[in-house]
Amino acid sequence: MVEPANSFDDFLPDALQRRSPRPLVDIGANLTHASFSRDLESVLSRARAANVTSLILTGTDREHAEQAVALAERYPGLYATAGVHPHDASQWDVSLARAMRDLHRKPSVVAVGECGLDFNRNFSTPDEQERAFEAQLGLAVESGKPLFLHERDAGKRLREILRAWRDDISDAVVHCFTADRDTLHGYLDLDLHIGLTGWLCDERRGHHLRELVGDIPLTRLMVETDCPYLLPRNLPAKLKGRRHEPALLPWIVREIAHWRGMPEAELADATTATASAFFRLASPNHFPSPECEEH
Ligand SMILES: [Zn+2]
Repeated sequence: MVEPANSFDDFLPDALQRRSPRPLVDIGANLTHASFSRDLESVLSRARAANVTSLILTGTDREHAEQAVALAERYPGLYATAGVHPHDASQWDVSLARAMRDLHRKPSVVAVGECGLDFNRNFSTPDEQERAFEAQLGLAVESGKPLFLHERDAGKRLREILRAWRDDISDAVVHCFTADRDTLHGYLDLDLHIGLTGWLCDERRGHHLRELVGDIPLTRLMVETDCPYLLPRNLPAKLKGRRHEPALLPWIVREIAHWRGMPEAELADATTATASAFFRLASPNHFPSPECEEH
């Protein structure tokens, strides 16, 4: 974002107002979620106050991807992804494919997705999920843009499919990684990127990640809130409404840095550099827009 940093308003308790020592990129912000519709400007202003300077808005279906694009075209520092989440894979058809292809041509769309496989809940059948996923892999090849992937309880199958496509797609990030060490190394062997959320702050189901975060090379690691979901469970104060937001990303970075045994500022710099390169974000020193680079 180009505006000077704002100060925090009084929405977050004092104990949660924390500014990252270096600029951060939140690679997974679901800001088109209805819970943000009433105070989006304040949410963005608090993100700036926390030094979260770029946000990748997740587009999980046609409607949300179009909303994400509209926001990205309106606010500097915001970018969008466009895809169909595995939960909605049963909706995939020719007209949806055409709509996605059009969205991927827009300069504000920096990735194809959220797409992938979720065998945890199977809101769409595994067959429907694979069909929609393969179609979106094809769109990623066409557009040359990187993939924003979702995987839950489907790591083995996701890897099998990706292995067949790996030479044709550019880059791919498995967002909100929550799986085990074998799955992690399988992804790294495929030269994929990994997105980490506040999942590792969850004592009920995420503490296994503490021992794994050090295995991820800094050139492959990015950070995200996945807000409004996944509010970190170990924040030093309660938050009314329990809605997660980008301004809380520095807490997640601090936690990851702790378990990697490295300074927070260094981790912030590294994840921002990795995300900027991965999503080809415009920076003040880098003027040709992604659109100009492609042709
Ligand atoms: Zn997801």
